[in-house]
Amino acid sequence: MKNQEFLNQWSTVMQNNYGAPALALVSGKGLLVKDANGRQYLDFLGGIATNVLGHAHPAIVKAVTKQVNVLGHVSNFYAHPNALALAQKLKEMTGDGDARVFFAQSGAEAVEAAIKLSRRTGRSRMVAAQGAFHGRTMGALSLTGQPSKREPFLPLLKGVKHVPYGDIEAMRRAVNKKTAMVIIEPIMGEAGVIVPPPDYLAGIRQICDATGALMVADCVQTGIGRTGDWFGYEYSGITPDVITLAKGLGGGLPLSAMIACGASAYLFAPGDHGSTFGANPITSAAALATINFIEKNKLMAAVKIHEKQLLQEIALIPGVLEVRGAGLLIGIELTKPLAAEVLLSMRDSGVLVNAATATTIRIAPALNVSTSQINSFISIFRKAVTHVNS
Ligand SMILES: *Cc1c(COP(=O)(O)O)cnc(C)c1O
Repeated sequence: MKNQEFLNQWSTVMQNNYGAPALALVSGKGLLVKDANGRQYLDFLGGIATNVLGHAHPAIVKAVTKQVNVLGHVSNFYAHPNALALAQKLKEMTGDGDARVFFAQSGAEAVEAAIKLSRRTGRSRMVAAQGAFHGRTMGALSLTGQPSKREPFLPLLKGVKHVPYGDIEAMRRAVNKKTAMVIIEPIMGEAGVIVPPPDYLAGIRQICDATGALMVADCVQTGIGRTGDWFGYEYSGITPDVITLAKGLGGGLPLSAMIACGASAYLFAPGDHGSTFGANPITSAAALATINFIEKNKLMAAVKIHEKQLLQEIALIPGVLEVRGAGLLIGIELTKPLAAEVLLSMRDSGVLVNAATATTIRIAPALNVSTSQINSFISIFRKAVTHVNS
């Protein structure tokens, strides 16, 4: 079947919640992916910051194949070596001796787990940022700060306040001794890669310490090496009470985690929460393979070098107002609302990106991207911007 045939059949069986897909992708290798017409693309979206080692990475293929041949699922009544090793690794990454991990499958579920954990403080109010994205389930959606996503589904959870992102005084006014948790993205991903002032997270840490509210760092998009650190908040020097991870964690397999640090690690009691597939042996194997590969090959150091090149070279391209982000999560602000046109022009030239807003191109390529692939991206982006502005 060719692309068009796939797309025709798609709408006859799939609900229309995403709109029509652009292409049918059928195979991949590294940062290259092929559509059903046999056309190859350089993938600079990475399944939305998810395929951190690209497509069909040998280390992940090997780990998953081995595990699925031995034991695929055990349920939460039993322990499993992969889940144990992964939780130990994540705990070590937090640097917190009390850290405890809860596993689920999606970002929204990690956020839901954080919401329920925060209820165990005996408080129920929550504060989040305007424009933030924390997921689409009813609890997570209550925290997502985007009216267009929320309004069709009101009423949502009560007691949630949304404050302007980056405004520490607004945060101070909103948080008090009745606040169970503050949730914040270290960099807002879906909103178009918005970077807060450098001392913003440290300011929130102080406010949470003073009021006893849990500070939840939603690192679903900024975690697992994406920013050049394991967790997106690390540049700030603080440790949050709760960390949510998903997208990159399973190296493309569905896995998420809610990690609670310090005293918050002990808020859940048996029976408080659960997920049938949580701590699954296969997805844990994929995550361990991913994390080990990033470590062994020093990919986070490479990510910081790529960041410098991308920020420097893209800023010089006519038609670009601003380029921002950290590591390999980059938002390119165009001078005109032509992001959709740039995306199409780049796809025609064989590069996949995302239009996060009408004016913003977002890229989140795999962390093992090569310098020559970065160079190709920059040159095709330059051509696309020139083309749509002419
Ligand atoms: C994508 C995302 C989510 C939701 O993840 P799903 O797996 O789609 O539920 C939550 N928070 C952030 C910061 C995200 O980027």
